[in-house]
Amino acid sequence: MKQPKVQIRAIDSYDLPIIEDAVRQWFDDLRDPKLKRSKRVLIKPNALGAYLPEQAVTTHPIVLEAIIRYFLEQKKEVWVGDSPGGTVSVQKVWETCGWQDLAERYPIKLINLSTSGYREMKYDGIPVKISEVLFQCGIVINVAKYKTHSLMAFTGALKNLYGLIPGLIKSDYHRLNPDTQSFAELLLALYSLSHVKITYSIIDGIVGMDGNGPSAGKLKNFGLLMGSDNIPALDTIAAQMMGFKIKDVPYLWGALHKEGILPSRILVPHSFLNHQIPDVDIGFVKMRKEGLKYMPRTLRYAFKKVYYYYPRVSERCVRCGVCVKSCPVQAIAWQSDGFPRVDKDKCIKCMCCHELCPTQAIDIHKSFIARRLMR
Ligand code: SF4
Ligand code: SF4
Repeated sequence: MKQPKVQIRAIDSYDLPIIEDAVRQWFDDLRDPKLKRSKRVLIKPNALGAYLPEQAVTTHPIVLEAIIRYFLEQKKEVWVGDSPGGTVSVQKVWETCGWQDLAERYPIKLINLSTSGYREMKYDGIPVKISEVLFQCGIVINVAKYKTHSLMAFTGALKNLYGLIPGLIKSDYHRLNPDTQSFAELLLALYSLSHVKITYSIIDGIVGMDGNGPSAGKLKNFGLLMGSDNIPALDTIAAQMMGFKIKDVPYLWGALHKEGILPSRILVPHSFLNHQIPDVDIGFVKMRKEGLKYMPRTLRYAFKKVYYYYPRVSERCVRCGVCVKSCPVQAIAWQSDGFPRVDKDKCIKCMCCHELCPTQAIDIHKSFIARRLMR
């Protein structure tokens, strides 16, 4: 197996010619025959919900524009597609994220992966429904956003593949995989079934998010655009630059192991060797609860009494109902005061509500001990 290589460029603003230059160089360097042979390209961005580009939740349209322009020059047919989370209108997502504007300026097609059919596949006994569109495109460019993540600690190229699962099937998978470990295994199954179709992955980290990501965190000017044809290698370098250890991201060891990659063998540009981005707030999302697995049952019970966290609707709520409709276990219900409330006993802590609330009105309430351990 060739040594995995991660490309990194320091880019401090969404400047189209500079981003185009990086993307062009990375794609031109690829030796994948599909780039010449295949006619149709799927660009798979992060379309978590209806967020403006400056909110840094979704892939920035200028990064998509650079990729679109490259492939249109190569006379390819370009599709841009994703399946947003929850019950949000896909048309609203395209418009708010700035992608509808791209579709009006370039001859491309926006594809809703929620309604385009799926293929049911199985990996290691785990069934996964994957959008049929993935198998209709010879070239697939996976374009993630660089953020922290309340359930998985970090979201980059591998987690971005979750949008290949159509619509509310995603919520159902959260219900079926309520703990971090089983959800990580599902992500690994999805990766294993889809990665041969992914030609190249890019992480838009020019502006990303730290703290309480992936939608309610703080904007962070990371000033980085990263790319690789190897997803675990790309995520490893990106996560480490944020300050995570590999074990902090529940699926990362599994993905590296599956590909036989030694982290120390991943090639990066010389100027980014052991690079650490200063002052990234990752304490909030570091899931120390993994330690519970190794605790005796009696101790675990006592620990859970003092170590807990759960989503709580704040006064910022505008009563849109997205969280009520998106909760996979119906743990959020309308109250007589007209606001929704989380039933702590029913909640499986998948954090879908926190991720999908369009006004970041869902806070994560933590016990004193959880606050200390998550610093
Ligand atoms: S908490 Fe957020 S998602 Fe839920 S109803 Fe309020 S604004 Fe909508
Ligand atoms: S209340 Fe929120 S975190 Fe809890 S199960 Fe429902 S969507 Fe998931």
